[in-house]
Amino acid sequence: MDKLKQLRSVIKEKGLEALLLSDIQDVNWLTGFSGSFGAVLVTESQGLFISDSRYTVQAAEEVKTMPTKTFASPQNFYDFLAAQVQELGIKLLGFDSNETSVAKLKRMETSLANVQLVPAESLTQKMRMVKSPDEIERAKRACALADACFDHVRRLIQPGSIEYDLGLEIEFFFRRQGAELAFAPIVVSGLRSARPHGHPSENRLQEGDFVTMDFGAKVEGFCSDITRTIVVSHASERHIEVYNRVLKAQIAAIKAIKPGALAKDVDSLAREELGDLAQYFGHGLGHGLGGVVHDLGRMAQSSQDIFEPGQIWTVEPGVYIEGFGGVRIEDDVLVTESGVEVLTHSPKELLVLP
Ligand code: ZN
Ligand code: ZN
Repeated sequence: MDKLKQLRSVIKEKGLEALLLSDIQDVNWLTGFSGSFGAVLVTESQGLFISDSRYTVQAAEEVKTMPTKTFASPQNFYDFLAAQVQELGIKLLGFDSNETSVAKLKRMETSLANVQLVPAESLTQKMRMVKSPDEIERAKRACALADACFDHVRRLIQPGSIEYDLGLEIEFFFRRQGAELAFAPIVVSGLRSARPHGHPSENRLQEGDFVTMDFGAKVEGFCSDITRTIVVSHASERHIEVYNRVLKAQIAAIKAIKPGALAKDVDSLAREELGDLAQYFGHGLGHGLGGVVHDLGRMAQSSQDIFEPGQIWTVEPGVYIEGFGGVRIEDDVLVTESGVEVLTHSPKELLVLP
């Protein structure tokens, strides 16, 4: 079923006459529009894409499934929206309560004084988590590029290399291939590797350092996200032990993902596998991937998510020991009918480089 049809049936189920999608990720998912500002009105029989005049040409090009309209100064979004709502004869309109701030709601209440506004949250969430064949294709390309990037950057690792330079090299690599960055690369070495989301610094790599690199490409609007930790020149017993425990937890977690399994149970399993090292594992086991790197879906103790075929997840246990260093190993997986297909293939046995 196409996305618009699917969404219409959910809108009907919820007793809504029409829905305003205003989260740009929802808009991008539904229409393919890649700009930074847009909204969609969905009714039982129609859809209308709205943006401003910066995107008139782009919207007409990218949005294939519904008419597009744009407004220009001095008109503003809320008055323009009100005119479209009136033209479509909408009397009861659902809006995204997650995305709509109090200030935005006040503006809507003023412009749409004759329309009943109903908060509706997460109507797209379950649909968005199951990827279309086209999205899966783009995800695979983004993952392949991340693997190629690791293969490139690992050659530059030696004592004296600077974290900044490795981070830049990752950026250059993706840009040169025509891709965007899914997020600013993380490169942390030595004691700094105990920072799960540290930015690259002037630190020079030294023999015996862990180096954690976390990066991803955005290819045609779909993100990949991979982490590898390596050791410079020489690994101590402790490095090997900590690394292999994280690897064992990651492999066990990947094996446990299958349709019907609970995200929170797989998170628990990774923690069990880590044993006494679990105390150093402060974040969730993974997240959904999509048009943004931290897309819908969380593998964590608080998660209600259930795995379904077509979802794409990261699996990324990490152990961060202050005064020693940290390890994270992250792969991207597609949930299949029977388990998962791992989409990132960079080597993950402990690499001692160069
Ligand atoms: Zn990552
Ligand atoms: Zn991640």
